[in-house]
Amino acid sequence: MSLYADRTHLIGTENAFKIGPHIVRVESQGSPVIKMNLGEPDASAPRWVKDEVIRQIEQDNSHYCDPKGILPFRTAVAYQINQTRGLNVTPEHVCVFPGGKPSIGFSQQIYCNPGDEIIYPSPGFPIYESFIGYIGAVPVPLHLHEEQNFTFTPEQLEELITPRTKLIILNFPSNPTGGVASKDQLYAIAEIIMANCSPEVRVYSDEIYENIVFDGQKHFSIASVPGMETRTIISSGMSKSFAWTGGRIGYAVMPTIAEADMFKTMNINYFSCVPPYNQEGSREALENPQSGPWMAAMAKTFEKRRDVILEVLNRIDGVTCQKPGGAFYLFPNIGGLCKRLGVFEAYRRFPETLQEATSPATLFQMFALYEHKVAVMDRRSFGAIGAENLHFLRLSIATDLETLKEGVRRIAAAGEDIEGFRKYVDKGDNLY
Ligand code: PMP
Repeated sequence: MSLYADRTHLIGTENAFKIGPHIVRVESQGSPVIKMNLGEPDASAPRWVKDEVIRQIEQDNSHYCDPKGILPFRTAVAYQINQTRGLNVTPEHVCVFPGGKPSIGFSQQIYCNPGDEIIYPSPGFPIYESFIGYIGAVPVPLHLHEEQNFTFTPEQLEELITPRTKLIILNFPSNPTGGVASKDQLYAIAEIIMANCSPEVRVYSDEIYENIVFDGQKHFSIASVPGMETRTIISSGMSKSFAWTGGRIGYAVMPTIAEADMFKTMNINYFSCVPPYNQEGSREALENPQSGPWMAAMAKTFEKRRDVILEVLNRIDGVTCQKPGGAFYLFPNIGGLCKRLGVFEAYRRFPETLQEATSPATLFQMFALYEHKVAVMDRRSFGAIGAENLHFLRLSIATDLETLKEGVRRIAAAGEDIEGFRKYVDKGDNLY
């Protein structure tokens, strides 16, 4: 008899949380690490949000509440969705979760039977792929290419749709690439979905970075394409828009009230409800007129950093990086750097088990962390299926500009340190 159920071997994880102990180890040896691995804005949540949470706690609003989310917050969400997406949803279409993350796994559990196919972006937020095996569905990665600035064509999607397709996950602006699909692209993608999928197929549109968009663009949701409102789950939350990852408030808007109630049943089974005082803080965040300018200023800060860091990054020999249209990540291709540094050569010499445990980008990631004190994420942390020959890093720009510049300087130095890399690999510690 084994201790763990079989399905526990089928769930993945989010490596952004796993790299933490490595950083702690490096720092405990006395060297501060530049953290370009973090997926959270470096701003503090707005004053009016914090004040509202404190006020609610003082008023003793800290008991069980509606498992679907408190009505004042769901009302604010429905209003905001209708204003920004041109829809006509009611508070009953909204369900609140502890963060943007739970509705990813819930939607897979609610809509998919074993054997159903789930199309998801790769590179993409790791939880999309991580959950699929666990529920017995079939992962169908939609590979996003550097040449298309990490968007995809309708034809690419069409090729992947089969009669078993049940869920299609989209994420613009994207983690980890910052890719943003244009309104025209989303119209064309919607057309393919409506022409090829039965009305029961759902699109899970992860729009958690909706307020961090650059170059004067405006976020556009696929749910705003006429006909798509009956097929799309819009997911968003407080973590990125309000720099409030610890508040753990996210929400999704479902095409029907019955579906929203199905998510509510999951809430009841898993955690009963989400802290009401943080929901009131989130309501305040959506309703307070200062929030719009506050978010715009934060996005502008990210945009400025993007411009500077993109330029210094592209100056590194063997590195090419596309210009992200949103979010706060850069996703450089480091294939040339890996070649020059001898990463591929070292990797080829590894025994098969070690090759499976690591990847060239992972080797560079760990070398950069342990020997050059800069933390970044590797490509396979964002969907491993079909990522074997892809050599990218994700750099978060959620740190001040001077620190970021120093971080890139360290990446460049690591890329030149051929002797150091050889020694690192010979030592054989922390290779993944
Ligand atoms: N979706 C995407 C694309 C994300 O990047 C993240 C957070 N990194 C989430 C969902 C989850 O957000 P939360 O922390 O609110 O659960």
